[in-house]
Amino acid sequence: MRTLDCGHVALAATSRFCPHLVDVPEDNEVAYHRLLTGHGMEFDLACGECGAAGRLSSPVEVCAGCVDRLIEDGDLLGWRGEPEILERPEPFDPTVSGWSLPPALGEVIDLAAIDDADGSRWLALTADGTIAALDPDGDEITVLATVELVDEPEHQPWGNHPLRRRLHASPCGRFAAVVNDYGRYGRVVDLGRGGVVTLALDGGNYHSNTVPFSLTFAVVDDRPVVVHRTRWNRLDVSDPATGELLTAREIEKTSEQERPPHHLDYFHGRLLCSPGSRTLADDGWIWHPVGEPAVWQLRPWLDGNVWESEDGPTRQRLCYRDYYWDGPLCFVGDDLLAVGGIGDNDETMLPGVRLFDVASGRELTSFAGPAGAWFSDGRRLYSAQHDGLHIWDPLTGHRTGTLPGFTPTCRHRGSGELAAVTDGVLHRWRA
Ligand SMILES: [Zn+2]
Ligand SMILES: [Zn+2]
Repeated sequence: MRTLDCGHVALAATSRFCPHLVDVPEDNEVAYHRLLTGHGMEFDLACGECGAAGRLSSPVEVCAGCVDRLIEDGDLLGWRGEPEILERPEPFDPTVSGWSLPPALGEVIDLAAIDDADGSRWLALTADGTIAALDPDGDEITVLATVELVDEPEHQPWGNHPLRRRLHASPCGRFAAVVNDYGRYGRVVDLGRGGVVTLALDGGNYHSNTVPFSLTFAVVDDRPVVVHRTRWNRLDVSDPATGELLTAREIEKTSEQERPPHHLDYFHGRLLCSPGSRTLADDGWIWHPVGEPAVWQLRPWLDGNVWESEDGPTRQRLCYRDYYWDGPLCFVGDDLLAVGGIGDNDETMLPGVRLFDVASGRELTSFAGPAGAWFSDGRRLYSAQHDGLHIWDPLTGHRTGTLPGFTPTCRHRGSGELAAVTDGVLHRWRA
C-alpha cells in the first residue's frame, strides 16, 4: 500500500478523480460528472469543467472512501462516455411475419395478447372502440364488441403525456379493459356477452395525469380477477364477470391531523402482474415527487390481509428516483423484477436494468444498455427500442442478439411471440 493522491494510505479505487476533486473540504458541496470508461459500468469522477470535456486529461488515484464520500455528498451533474455492453451472440431466427388487417377494421390503437389461447390469438382495439379477436394463423378476424371510449374534457396533460387509450386482456380472453392512461376513467367488459360493461373504472382525479391507469388482470384459482386503481392511493381487486369487489376495506376516520392506520402516501402507477399471478408490481411515486417501484404478493391480499397493498408484510419498496417513474419495467419470471434506469434522478439516468428479487426487495445486479419497452420469457429480456429489438441475458447483462427495425408492443405468453400492429399489418416474431 502507498500514499494515494488523496493523501490516504490505501488501495486505489477503480474510479479515479480529476485533480480538482481532491482536497475539497468535507463541508463543501461539490458537483461532479461520472465519466464511463468503457469497461463495464466503471467510471471516473470529474469536476464540472473536466466533465464537460468528456475525458480526464490527468487522472489521479484516490481511495474507495474518498470516492464514496463524493458520491454520497456531491451533486451528480450527469454521465459522460458510454458503458461497455457485453456481447454474447446466440443464433436465432430473425423472420418477422406480416399479416395485413382489412382496412374496414379501422385504425388499431392497441394490441393485447390472449395468453391462454391455443396458438397465437390477440385482441385489437381500434380508434372507434371496436375490440376484435385476431387469429393470424387461422386468417380470421372476429369483431367481439364496441366499447364506449370515455372522454375527459377536463383533462390537463402533464409533461409529454397526453391521454392515451389502452387495452388490457384477461389471459383467457373473455374479459377486456379499456382505460385512459394518464387519465381517470375506464371500463371492464365481458367479451363473452357482447362487451357488456361489468365494471366502470374511476381512479380519481388527484394527479391521475401523471401515471398510466393502474390496471392488470391476474388469475386466482383458474379464475380471472382484475386489479385496478380506485383512488390515487388505493387499489382494489374485482371479479371481472360481475364487478364484485373482492378487497372491501374501510380506512378509519380519525381527526384531521392524525394519519389513520393503513393510510398509504403513494400515487399508484402502472401495474404489472407476474406470469404466474404471484406478484404485483406498482410503478408509482411519492411526494415530492420521487418514483418508488413497489411489489407485493396477490394471494395474501385476497386470502386474509386486505391491507396487503398498503402495508402488508410482502410489500417491498425497491428503489427511489427523483422525478423518475413510468420507465421500463418487466417481470423476469415470478421472482425477479427488472426496473429500468440506473441513477438517482431523471436528469442523470443511464438506460439500463436494475434486477430485484421481489421476495426480499434486494437488488441482485445492474447493467447498462436496455431501454424502451421490455418483455421477458423468464430466460431472456427483450427491449423494444427505437432502432429495433435487443435480446439480453438478464442475469449476466450480455446482449445475445438484435433484430433491427422490429419494435414490438406486446408479448404472447402462450406462443412466445412478440408483436406489434404498424400501418395495418400485424408483425410477429417468435423468440
Ligand atoms: Zn477537474
Ligand atoms: Zn482517500
